[in-house]
Order: sequence, then C-alpha cells, then structure tokens
Amino acid sequence: MAENKIHVDPAEILKQQEIMQAICIENKAKSKQQKACVITYGCQQNENDSERIKGMLQKMGYELTDEREIADVIIFNTCAVRENAEKKLKGNVGALKYLKAKRPNLVIGVCGCMVQQEQIAWEMFKKFRHISLIFGTHGLYRFPELLRKARANTRVFDVQNIDGQIAEDIPVKRDDKFKAWVTIMYGCNNFCSYCIVPFVRGRERSRNPEDVLDEIKALAKDGYKEVTLLGQNVNSYGKDLTENKMSFAELLREVNKIEGIERIRFATSHPKDLSDELISAMAECDKVCKQLHLPFQAGSNNTLKAMNRSYTRESYLETVRKIREKMPDIALTSDVIVGFPTETNEDFEETLSLVKEVRFDNLFTFIYSKRKGTVAEKMPFVLSGKEIQENFDRLVALQNEISREINDTYLGKTLPVLIEGESKTDKSVLQGRTESNKVVNLKGDNSLIGSMQNVRITEIRTWSLNGEL
Ligand code: SF4
Repeated sequence: MAENKIHVDPAEILKQQEIMQAICIENKAKSKQQKACVITYGCQQNENDSERIKGMLQKMGYELTDEREIADVIIFNTCAVRENAEKKLKGNVGALKYLKAKRPNLVIGVCGCMVQQEQIAWEMFKKFRHISLIFGTHGLYRFPELLRKARANTRVFDVQNIDGQIAEDIPVKRDDKFKAWVTIMYGCNNFCSYCIVPFVRGRERSRNPEDVLDEIKALAKDGYKEVTLLGQNVNSYGKDLTENKMSFAELLREVNKIEGIERIRFATSHPKDLSDELISAMAECDKVCKQLHLPFQAGSNNTLKAMNRSYTRESYLETVRKIREKMPDIALTSDVIVGFPTETNEDFEETLSLVKEVRFDNLFTFIYSKRKGTVAEKMPFVLSGKEIQENFDRLVALQNEISREINDTYLGKTLPVLIEGESKTDKSVLQGRTESNKVVNLKGDNSLIGSMQNVRITEIRTWSLNGEL
C-alpha cells in the first residue's frame, strides 16, 4: 500500500488488529455468544462505515443481530444532514435506558456525523448517562480500542476536531452479496451554505487508486458483480493526490477493466465538477451504468447563489445537454431542496420549470432543514411554512407524473436485470435492478440470485416494474 501523510500509520492499524484478536479471545471464553447490533441512519457513506463497524465487531467475535433487546453492544451510526434524524436518534437512545439498567455491562455507542459536532456530542454524553461510548467519524478505525475501554465500564468520549485520516485494511462485513459500496474519497471542500457535511467529514481526501482497485479486484474474486464508488463529490477524486495522480474519469476506466465486475455506479456528483472527460469515460466504458445522480438543488440562479452551489441554471442545463448528447438513454436523478430561506415563489417556479425541462427519472425532494453552524442558519425565511409545503406538494406531484410517464416507456421492453435477492415484502418474488437503477420484481428460482438475466417488463407500478424472465 502506498503511503502519504493522510493515511493512518500502518503500526496503528496493526495495534487495532491486535486489540480485535484479544477481545475475540475474551468473547470466546464467555459462557454465552456475544451479540452486537448496528443501527444506521443517513447516506450510503454511512452504510459503508457501518459495514466496517460490523466487520470489526465480527472480528472481535460478536455475532450480528438486528434485535437490540438481546445485544451486548448496540451502536448507532448517526446522520447530521436533517434535524428530524437527530430527534429520532435521541428518542431511540433515550428508550434504551431501561435496558442498560437491567444489564449494566451493555455497551451503548453513538458514532458518525451527528456526534462529530462536539457540542451536540457532549450534550448527549451528559444527558444520556447510559451511553458508554461516543466517537466521531474520524475515530472509526480506533473503534476496537474505544470499545475495549467501554467494555471495562469506562465511559468513553472521543470526538476530535480534525480532518481525519484514511485507514486501509479495516475488516468489512458487506450487507449485500453481489453489490458493494466502495468509498473512494472522504470529505468535501464545497461548503454549500445549507450543508453540515464539510464540518463533520472534513476536507477532501482521496484514497490511493491502487488501494481502490485492489479492493474492487478482491470483490470481483468474491463474486461481486456491481460496485458503487462513493464520495461526497466523486468528480473531484484525485485532485489532492500527491503521487500516482489519477482523475475520477481515469479511475472509472481502470475499474471498467476489472474482470468479473459487470456494473459500475457512482455517487455523488457535483454539477460544477462534471467534466467532459468524465462524460466521455461514462459513455465509453461498457460497464458504467448509464444512470447519473446529479443534484441540482434549485432551479433559480438567485437561490443557487445563496446556496453557494457555484453553478447556474444555464450551466446545469448545458451539462445535461452534453450528457444526453453522448448517452441519449441515460437515466437522470437529482436532489432538490424546497423552501431554502431566500427562496421566493418566483424562484420556486424556476425549479418546477427545470424539472419539466430535464424530465428526471426520479427526484429526491426535501424541505429545507436548518443546520446549526451553517451560513444559511442565520438567513430569514421569505416564504411561510404553509407556502413551502404547498410548493413541495406541487413538485412531488409533477415528478410523480414524469416518473410514471418515463416508467411507462419500459412496458414490453426486455432488459438485463441483476437479480439481487428476494423481495423484502414477498419472499416468493425475486428483486433486481435495471441498468437505470429501476427495481424489477419477477417470479423465478432463488438460484438466479446474483446473475444477470434478461427480463421482459410486463407491468408498470408507481415505484417499481414487474417483469418475467
Ligand atoms: S457538495 Fe455541498 S451539499 Fe454536497 S456534501 Fe459538499 S457541501 Fe454538502
């Protein structure tokens, strides 16, 4: 593994591995199997971090469970992006007080973005005396060491206001068998005025390309078919690398060469950094799915400026034009915030008109949520809560109509679908995804799970498609 100053010292990783082994021996000596439960809030990056926490817990001899009542260790991996996620978390942590009273050796831990905000973390630590352990996003690789202290009934508070380092060689317990998240970079340099992420995830740090490629080659060997490359802004991957420099477009081309991997996706892309070089790489790499999540957030230049998004409505539309010129059938999705403090009804009309013009396959729509410490926190609202809700409802109705019209064009088509597993709601039905990331339900034998199958679309539903082999 190549090293530079942003990497954790390998001796430190070795130390954590030794602690994992020691805890594993202790756990095996116990009369009953030790169990651990990890609860994840938020984005794909958090899902991927939780897979690392689970990997370390397994290495320490814990059996993973979804049942909090029977777990010896409960870890909440938190999100800071929306206020209601914070409220939900506090409710869930508070509800475990009785369990800790019944079982004093139970370890309750809270980690992730929310508690990377030192003041919030400290308030929680003081208020919820039954929390054994709080650690920020930067302390993830030291989880074994922190857990060892918490197991010895010492309350642990480990939140540091630093950029964090990249830690390789941490065990991972993947939630899926055929598709995997691969984090390629951490942090963000953009400081959108509403967003807390740069404060809790630090500045951009790219993993070395050879580490990323080695991880994906190993996944391919283990039978994984699809990888999603993750970063807060993958388009700026590599800009901070001092040696073995590689752009995100070049990285995509390298991943495309890996035998066994059949599909490549990535998230998230900042529109200002989506280069012509990347559009060409997407178009030319046969394994890169012709699907792109490109958050536009608002359709009005006034709002985009207040959001500090560093692009205009016109430049966003121009980027979409270039993408569609090279990939006419690409499925586009996006994020939109409704009710940003400076947004007027006229500004919102421009969001609606952009949605009509681009015709996204799907939109992730959010009502603006104020976050402490951001520039937007201090901005007064132009619209009332009622007006914002009405605008939000209009946007959702418009997008539902467009999504349905786009989905209707799939009827009767035969498409390759990666069969991912049984449907969560009906075990007799298999579920997979098209290249455009649409969910397809179909009847079939479980032996098909993990394979790519041609599926004819027979029925269109609001959020999914039905099909047959
Ligand atoms: S690009 Fe903007 S919205 Fe995305 S993580 Fe960075 S600051 Fe937040």
